[in-house]
Amino acid sequence: MANPLYDALFGRHAQNPDTFLILPDGREISYQSFVAQAAGYAQAITDLGLKPGDRLAIQVEKSAQALALIAGCIQAGIVFLPLNTGYTVEELRYFVENSGARLVVCDAAKAQDIAQIGVPVETINADGDGSLSQKAAGITQFATVARSGDDLAAFLYTSGTTGRSKGAMLSQDNLLSNARTLVTEWRFTRSDVLLHALPIFHTHGLFVATNVMMLVGGKMIFMPKFDKDQMLEWMPKATSLMGVPTFYTRLLSDPCFTKDLAQHMRLFVSGSAPLLAETHVQFEQRTGHRILERYGMTETNMNTSNPYDGARRAGTVGFPLPDVELKVTDPETGETLPAGDIGVIEVRGPNVFQGYWQMPEKTAAELRSDGFFITGDLGKVDEDGYVHILGRNKDLIISGGFNIYPKEIEQILDDQPGVLESAVIAAPHPDFGESPVGVLVPMPDQTLSLDAISDAIAVSLAKFKHPKKLVVLDALPRNTMGKVQKNVLREMFKDLFV
Ligand code: AMP
Repeated sequence: MANPLYDALFGRHAQNPDTFLILPDGREISYQSFVAQAAGYAQAITDLGLKPGDRLAIQVEKSAQALALIAGCIQAGIVFLPLNTGYTVEELRYFVENSGARLVVCDAAKAQDIAQIGVPVETINADGDGSLSQKAAGITQFATVARSGDDLAAFLYTSGTTGRSKGAMLSQDNLLSNARTLVTEWRFTRSDVLLHALPIFHTHGLFVATNVMMLVGGKMIFMPKFDKDQMLEWMPKATSLMGVPTFYTRLLSDPCFTKDLAQHMRLFVSGSAPLLAETHVQFEQRTGHRILERYGMTETNMNTSNPYDGARRAGTVGFPLPDVELKVTDPETGETLPAGDIGVIEVRGPNVFQGYWQMPEKTAAELRSDGFFITGDLGKVDEDGYVHILGRNKDLIISGGFNIYPKEIEQILDDQPGVLESAVIAAPHPDFGESPVGVLVPMPDQTLSLDAISDAIAVSLAKFKHPKKLVVLDALPRNTMGKVQKNVLREMFKDLFV
């Protein structure tokens, strides 16, 4: 019976003897054995009483078995929630209760604590073993549960940096349509070998990387996490890398990362957070490769991409994907703005999610009835059609009634001698309501001249945009996907002017 996502990603590989996963210790797992293992998990969770449409919460370390469990959920029609391994038991309780999950799969070390939530618990440990793996062992066949493209495949909870995390409901078609588009746009084939060092609880590592590779039948070098030395060791055997910007800055920080080492590579993709234009330039100087930057999010998968053929422009996220419509609207009125104006990015297409689980008001506030999703990202489309992301709507600073886009100031700060990176946030101000604060991170062994930096800003930007204060930190706070946590910075500097 048909199950479009399962059939396209897994079912077609049931007899495929080719290698799917290469583990850092050199072991290889074939497509055939991966699909058989997935069937074992599908049977095990079905035996535990889960029915099609039920939810299953997964908080496990990255492993081939964890990925096979996800494949097993798709085969059994179970909606899975991949959860960040950093979440505490109390955070997990929220996800379990919110989603109504009927089973939690976690690491054995956490099982006792998680059991207090009151939902049955099974385990898969970092090495792939565990109570659920034992239940699945020896089973290699499962009668695939029929699904339609509109059926839900996964809930992906938003990172929750602005309040309670929301469960974005993704249908089979949402995932499949996007993976198919990316295969074509980025020219993936079965000869590709992808360096996979992203977590598999997030859209980037799970849906973008894994689904694309399974669609084409390519190989993945499946690393538990980003480890620079491991990456350097395996790169000569790979053709492609999907990473967050910090992967690229860390690679560049190592003189062993050379043009020779990247010779066999055909594509470096970056996303999930803005790639500094400077990183783009340095990367090209070092390797001859231009990183391809793309833009997406939990609710939509991928929306835009720089072109495979054609100019990959640093500091932009390229063009809307062929099946994605993108417009920039006025945050107040929702009216479409003329090209070049800054506003909120809205997208529509088969990639856009089905709404937030049991949050009809939040869904209605962000997903228009005509299908456009209000991303909350500020941006513009330039005269050549390239999309620029200029920060989150909530990062917009309104000082004395004037709108200030942090990115505009950050770009100037980043260009100053000795500055590695920067973040501009708003701090409450008695006169202006709020005022920009520039947070600077120096390059190693550099001391910054804040006076010189203030002078440089004075010549480049209108007075109302000048940060009222520049502060220096050793590093910017970031989450696991490399995103700067501006909420943490706002909290740190909230009393600066009051
Ligand atoms: P998440 O839902 O965790 O994947 O986060 C999505 C958000 O990450 C987007 O709404 C953007 O704010 C940001 N983002 C993703 N890709 C990029 C990019 N290439 N440049 C700038 N911001 C990005």
